[in-house]
Amino acid sequence: MLIDKGSDFDHQDLTFDEIDEGFTTKEAIKEAKRCLNCQKPLCRTGCPIENEIPDFIQELAKGNLGQASAVIAHRSNLPAVCGRVCPREKQCEAACILNKKGCGIKIGKLERFIADFDAEMDISVLTKKNVEKGKVAVIGSGPAGLTVAGDLAKLGFRVTVFDGQAEPGGVLMYGIPEFRLNKEVVRREIRRIERQGVVFQTNVLIGRDLTVDELFSQGYDAIFIGTGTALPKTLEIPGKNLPGVIQATYFLGMVMLANHGGIASLEVPVHKGDDVIVIGAGNVAIDAARTALRVGAASVTVVYRRTVANITALQSEFEGAQSEGVQFQWLTNPVRYVGTDRVTGLACERQIMTDDGKLQGSGQVEILSANKIIVAVGQRPAARIVSTTAGIEVNQAGFVVTKDRPYGMTTRHGIFAGGDVVHEPATVVLAMKEAKKVASGLAQYVEAKRLMEECGLAMTDTRQ
Ligand code: FAD
Repeated sequence: MLIDKGSDFDHQDLTFDEIDEGFTTKEAIKEAKRCLNCQKPLCRTGCPIENEIPDFIQELAKGNLGQASAVIAHRSNLPAVCGRVCPREKQCEAACILNKKGCGIKIGKLERFIADFDAEMDISVLTKKNVEKGKVAVIGSGPAGLTVAGDLAKLGFRVTVFDGQAEPGGVLMYGIPEFRLNKEVVRREIRRIERQGVVFQTNVLIGRDLTVDELFSQGYDAIFIGTGTALPKTLEIPGKNLPGVIQATYFLGMVMLANHGGIASLEVPVHKGDDVIVIGAGNVAIDAARTALRVGAASVTVVYRRTVANITALQSEFEGAQSEGVQFQWLTNPVRYVGTDRVTGLACERQIMTDDGKLQGSGQVEILSANKIIVAVGQRPAARIVSTTAGIEVNQAGFVVTKDRPYGMTTRHGIFAGGDVVHEPATVVLAMKEAKKVASGLAQYVEAKRLMEECGLAMTDTRQ
């Protein structure tokens, strides 16, 4: 098998502290002053939510930090998060003209600096709108739900966000590990959205504690579903139910709970001294691998059936994992979990990649030993809401079907959806991009509905 050995890094040095410490004030202003303020800002077109990048950088360069933060707030409710976890090397930073000279502006770090500075110094003004354009329920408080809630609150809607978890934030809180995204940063961003009038109700699982129809009967004009992809996909190979085979998202959520006192650390399914295999090579797999090292695993090996050129994880993430000591086995296809009472290994068939990029089994099978195997091969939406609500169509894979007019409305009138539950697992900023479009479609719908009601008419759905 093709093996990339990790470095000789001492795993015991790894902690959950944020790895990247960000800019100091001096560094941030120096970096901002390098921006050419191009007439045609390619960085802005590189950003999925079209953040007003040159404008906030210019304000920062002049030392106007409150104004810089206000400029960012035109487009984003989650700047401190995006400044940390956006795949910026493929987006705004890739588009920066200075990249051609190998010295592109570090836009993500500048956005992060402004958001952190504002949060610490409380310099930008956040107000509640004193109008009531409509009452909206948002289900799910990940990036999609938070974006819809923040955008609608700014427009004057009364918004309540419901989430089944104990704390809002979705994957930002329970998925992306602390060493990449400090949880206090997520809480801070949510508090800013709250200050704009949004109400959060946690530990409320819609479809179990309350139904969508009950929400309508409480007087909501429209409902947004941003419930993400809660169900992990399994690898359908023999032995999949053996103890010791763990889902990556479950593992990451348990580690977050243990780090914050929600559960005892013994309940985390990976322990000191474990030999761990991670299956998959996306961001979730790499996060799980790096987290396993931090909870004390003796060894962590990522197995992937393709090559390093095909991984979907960010290059920086992959390099981080390598430098911390994660090993990688390429062209390695799992065919069976090994073990009787518990998992003791993974049988893998060596793959051969043909010249046209197709994979072929070589027939050569090797058993890699491990007492914990973490599976990170994708997620799909849960059916809890669609199975308890009439009229919401999903596609064959369970993703909610929406339409373009009004943007983001499902096949049931007044119910909208966006983020991963519609577009499949993607990125924070892509969930935000879609959610922004849905927020505006939903606002148009509620405006029309209220106007009809003022005329003594009701919005009817001819399809029901
Ligand atoms: P989610 O964030 O999944 O939020 C859905 C919310 O809905 C959850 O809070 C859930 O509790 C709630 N919910 C679900 N069902 C119900 C119900 N019935 N009732 C009430 N509440 C409900 N993207 C990046 O850009 N950069 C990264 O570095 C990155 N790393 C990642 C690492 C991991 C481990 C994972 C899992 C994902 C990562 N992503 C990353 C992807 C990104 O986090 C997701 O694309 C994004 O969070 C999707 O947002 P969402 O709002 O659609 O869903």
